[in-house]
Amino acid sequence: CGVYAIYGNADAAKHTALGLHALQHRGQEASGIVSFDGEQFNAHRDNGQVGDIFAKPRVMDRLKGHAAIGHNRYSTEGDTVLRNVQPLFADLEFGGFALAHNGNLTNARKLRRELVHRGSLFQSTTDTEVVIHLMATAPANTVIERLIHALRQIEGAYSFVAMTSDQIIGVRDPLGVRPLVLGKLGDSYILASETCALDIVGADFIRDVGAGEVVVIDDNGLRSLRPFPPCQQRFCIFEHIYFARPDSIVEGTSVYEARKRIGAELARESHVDADMVVPVPDSGVPAALGYANQANIPFELGIIRNHYVGRTFIEPSDSIRHLGVKLKHNANRAYLRGKRVVLVDDSIVRGTTSAKIVNMVRQAGAAEVHMRIAAPPTRHPCFYGIDTPSEAELLASQYDVAGMAERIGCDSLAFVSFDGMYRAMGEPGRNAAEPQFCDACFTGDYPIRLVDQEDRENCR
Ligand code: 5GP
Ligand code: SF4
Ligand code: MG
Repeated sequence: CGVYAIYGNADAAKHTALGLHALQHRGQEASGIVSFDGEQFNAHRDNGQVGDIFAKPRVMDRLKGHAAIGHNRYSTEGDTVLRNVQPLFADLEFGGFALAHNGNLTNARKLRRELVHRGSLFQSTTDTEVVIHLMATAPANTVIERLIHALRQIEGAYSFVAMTSDQIIGVRDPLGVRPLVLGKLGDSYILASETCALDIVGADFIRDVGAGEVVVIDDNGLRSLRPFPPCQQRFCIFEHIYFARPDSIVEGTSVYEARKRIGAELARESHVDADMVVPVPDSGVPAALGYANQANIPFELGIIRNHYVGRTFIEPSDSIRHLGVKLKHNANRAYLRGKRVVLVDDSIVRGTTSAKIVNMVRQAGAAEVHMRIAAPPTRHPCFYGIDTPSEAELLASQYDVAGMAERIGCDSLAFVSFDGMYRAMGEPGRNAAEPQFCDACFTGDYPIRLVDQEDRENCR
């Protein structure tokens, strides 16, 4: 998901709509904005994309106020229904409270059972709502004390933005798995999932919100709180590989450059003689550039993408996913005939995209098709907010690399190594004792315990 918040700006909701538009890639299912105008909270949430939902003047005119928060939804927990669309809003003892979440709480079901047992009435099926109920029942006085009381009970990956009648708040989980950045436009503070949402309005990037940090922004400026003991950060390495926008700078690293460097590592590790390097657009482009430069093989757009189709993977139903892949890419026939092609993509999940693309490139007359993947094999599901399918549906959990190559139909297949991936991130390699990133979908080394998951397994 994508989150955004702004404080102290006459056009707060308009800025939020622009920020959410820049963060559209983080969720295309639904969006919402809640603003505060000095007297009341105003909210609008709907299914669909930001441009459609917030382009209407009658919608924006209602979202008055000097402060606003917003959310783009991409569902990992909770059904696709309007009552699950964030920001969530509740009237608590101290007043209104709006909350938007990127990530996934790994003990939300357990907390929810306990809260329901004590009488909490849940409005939605999102994991995020437990935070509101934990705050509502907290034995504390101030909003921030209530929030910290809730934070001490939840587990998982979270970047939150929240708003009350006189402040906005940003929070990152103790390991800093999901991103959150701080920016400034004139006197207005901004919180956003990625820096591309600052660039869109010309705001200055100030810094990343730290792992385990709570920032509170009000008329007195910015305060930083550290309610957790410090620990080694475990930022999601998949943000660099696929999820974040290539023009964003996350955790001090340009996503575009990191992807190019992975491509270069891949070329060093698994070179193959070929006539051209072809990216699977758009997500494979930076890695393919890095590969082509390193291998000194021409980079060509051998596959053309139709931009009027959303990200196929995000569409929830299987039939659409399969249809979407065909709608999305076409071979550039004139270029591929008789050529030895290196196809570069960022990752293989189910393998359906890859199989179709390899077939398409062969049909267009390529002599050889070598697939190079700018990530290690995706063998495990993500429980921290990225919508990977179950383990059984992950191609790499069912087959070894040779088996995968056979299923996909390519002449050779190679993935970047763990150390190659870490070198591309500016590290000497993967520190097995204390990994520098979360890489659980590749390694199965989950840095945050999976309470709900373990409960489920114990029930079987
Ligand atoms: P596959 O070949 O496994 O069917 O699909 C791989 C493609 O899906 C890659 O091109 C990659 O860009 C995209 N992809 C990989 N992981 C994710 C993800 O978590 N979410 C979305 N939306 N797309 C993904
Ligand atoms: Fe990111 Fe993978 Fe960790 Fe999920 S499991 S947070 S996708 S690195
Ligand atoms: Mg892709």
